[in-house]
Amino acid sequence: MIKVKNLHKHFGDLEVLKGIDEEIKQGEVVVVIGPSGSGKSTFLRCLNRLEEPTEGQIKIDEEVINSPEADINKIRQETGMVFQHFNLFPHKNSLGNIILSPMKVKGMSKEEATKIAYDLLEQVGLKNKAETYPSQLSGGQKQRIAIARALAMQPKVMLFDEPTSALDPEMVGEVLEVMRDLANEGMTMVVVTHEMGFAREVGDRVLFMDEGVVVEEAKPEKLFSNPDQKRTREFLAKVL
Ligand code: ADP
Ligand code: MG
Repeated sequence: MIKVKNLHKHFGDLEVLKGIDEEIKQGEVVVVIGPSGSGKSTFLRCLNRLEEPTEGQIKIDEEVINSPEADINKIRQETGMVFQHFNLFPHKNSLGNIILSPMKVKGMSKEEATKIAYDLLEQVGLKNKAETYPSQLSGGQKQRIAIARALAMQPKVMLFDEPTSALDPEMVGEVLEVMRDLANEGMTMVVVTHEMGFAREVGDRVLFMDEGVVVEEAKPEKLFSNPDQKRTREFLAKVL
């Protein structure tokens, strides 16, 4: 479903992605791990064109998304993104956050968007928080609303960039739970995370990135217990 060929990204003189080749299948959950600064976020951001690749090609469902003709609005609709910091609109309640894009970008009626939003609130376990403003929500609740907001655009793929890294420990589980359910429903997902338990349990494949390349990739059982590369072993020794 996603095909990445020879992806390079420079920021000025700094080469952050040094030729990434990846294929992600429909329904696959790919977990990306690696040290800080290795290019994980940049890789994810190239997949929905929050960053412009310097070189290479990214296809989603056979459509080249990094060409001048590509419709950037459509790409953003198809790729839901959830960030470390929730980026909810503070002056809108949960419902308002969720219905905004479907109405504005997809031209959905308020009634239809609201109906979908309530289904999503139920899915993330926050139906009773529809009218609550972000300032009155816990971190875990904010992140679940952010996930519902991304899902409201009915994306083909969900991209998660360290969705639990900013949360107090006791709130990590509720967010991972929502992500696990989503994976079980067959959503295609690319997840940057330090939650190795989640990677092991939910990931179909784990990519280990370091210094702008995918050093090693394998099923989680293999990568976590018997990695081939020395750099992978050294990283895992620090985080496991
Ligand atoms: P990770 O998510 O693995 O921590 P990033 O993709 O955020 O890594 O960053 C990789 C490298 O690219 C880092 O050295 C970072 O400082 C640099 N970088 C990221 N975004 C920018 C930017 N907009 N301008 C300049 N350098 C950037
Ligand atoms: Mg990052």
